[in-house]
Amino acid sequence: MAIEKQSDKLKSVFLPFLSTSHIIPLVDMARLFALHGVDVTIVTTKHNSTIFQNSIDLDSTRGRPIRTHIVEFPASKVGLPVGVESFNVNTPREMTPKIYMGLAILQPQIERLFEDLHADFIVTDMFYPWSVDAAAKLGIPRIMFHGASYLARSAAHSVEQYAPHLKVESDTDTFVIPDLPDRLEMSRLQLPDWLRSPNQYTELMKVIKESEKRSYGSLFNSFYELESDYYDHYKRVIGTKSWGIGPVSLWANQDASDKAARGYAKGEKEGKEEEGWLKWLNSKPDGSVLYVSFGSMNKFPYSQLVEIAHALEDSGHCFIWVVRKNDGEGGVFLEEFEKRVRESERGYLIWGWAPQLLILENPAIGGLVSHCGWNTVVESVNAGLPMVTWPLFAEHFFNEKLVVDVLGIGVPVGAKEWRNWNEFGSEVVKREEIRKAIALLMGGGEEDAAMRGRTKALSGAAKGAIQPGGSSYNNMVELIQELMSSNFPSFNREIITESSLFLSNFHL
Ligand code: UDP
Repeated sequence: MAIEKQSDKLKSVFLPFLSTSHIIPLVDMARLFALHGVDVTIVTTKHNSTIFQNSIDLDSTRGRPIRTHIVEFPASKVGLPVGVESFNVNTPREMTPKIYMGLAILQPQIERLFEDLHADFIVTDMFYPWSVDAAAKLGIPRIMFHGASYLARSAAHSVEQYAPHLKVESDTDTFVIPDLPDRLEMSRLQLPDWLRSPNQYTELMKVIKESEKRSYGSLFNSFYELESDYYDHYKRVIGTKSWGIGPVSLWANQDASDKAARGYAKGEKEGKEEEGWLKWLNSKPDGSVLYVSFGSMNKFPYSQLVEIAHALEDSGHCFIWVVRKNDGEGGVFLEEFEKRVRESERGYLIWGWAPQLLILENPAIGGLVSHCGWNTVVESVNAGLPMVTWPLFAEHFFNEKLVVDVLGIGVPVGAKEWRNWNEFGSEVVKREEIRKAIALLMGGGEEDAAMRGRTKALSGAAKGAIQPGGSSYNNMVELIQELMSSNFPSFNREIITESSLFLSNFHL
């Protein structure tokens, strides 16, 4: 019997974190469970639901058992303006602790919801370690969502265990990350601050790791063929169950309507902008255009925008650049730049949010300049596109290692310094470095051809992974079957109160 026919009694609650790039893949995962017949309720706040409600509405019209349950964010209780309830590119730094406080206030209400909604299991973001105890109280499994790659989690674990960064003299000396399947080198400056020297976030990551160990298992937006050595390594060193069910963007967004709806608030995308980019892209030869984007959380200072603009203009290649102005700074420069490159038909600027999935699958796109956000890495692999790697924050520098050193599908721009997502940092990558990396990526030389061959092979593997019999497909079906067949009344009853601690001053 098809899994959808058997799983209709299984009820689940999904709880995404309040940031776009954690919401997008976890909602895609929730939609995949509904696609397989599992009853799904996604719990979030009103503002955050606007990011994905279009997709849920589309799934509902397809008869899938999925819905959103809104909880009201206690903005006034924590002194925030109404609507500020997510960690995104426009969230003022000083407001982030208040958003955490709001989440802490919501915690008991969400716990009650798990019970009221009769969840048989919950899938919650890594940033909700308390939910493992909430699940334990109910005797149901908690599955944790990891926003990162297997390589990134393995590398962070290795640095925590062996502290190789303390054995080099300077911040720029390189060290090998110990006990990994490949010889990967990086410098202290490229490590996230919480790994470099302990801070509050280090404590939070410990709590998260403990909660992972006590969870039923964890879900990754990855697929076996993409990082098989790290998939096996991670399971071995961490000792928990985990399932790679990616690329979730490919699997959950099969129609153009799904791809177009992704990440837009209702009614927001009735713009001419979208048609503009599509018309422009369709006028370009196959593989000739570079897609330049730095994800959902980044804003560059004017000094860096100028370097990127010049590099793109000097590169001689066509490009689509997703840009965010920084408080008006550089407005005139960018407007003049936009006018110039539109007139010459060399470039197209998208302000704010781009329909990334649709753009990446357009045949005119030949490569990316990317910050190595994990979702974008998986999406570009799926689209068969190599990239210029320009890591910025979070676990991007580890992802760069996978793309460049392990898979051989990227050209590094040479970024040297990790920074926080809401800081500019001191590094400005110069136009010449950017131009050189673009030339290698788009130059059509022997190395480029080899890189493109590897990327195409991985793209084929991505598509195979979600087909019946593929690695991600099998993982998904096995997990649902396990959840259906198991009786969990006494699951994980032990409650460790430390992991319920809600620490309120973290950055992502
Ligand atoms: N994204 C998009 N349009 C944009 C920026 C981002 O559709 O203009 C999507 C992208 O497809 C990906 C996610 O947002 O799924 C960004 O996640 P990623 O891990 O790549 O980077 P982050 O935003 O965490 O830096």
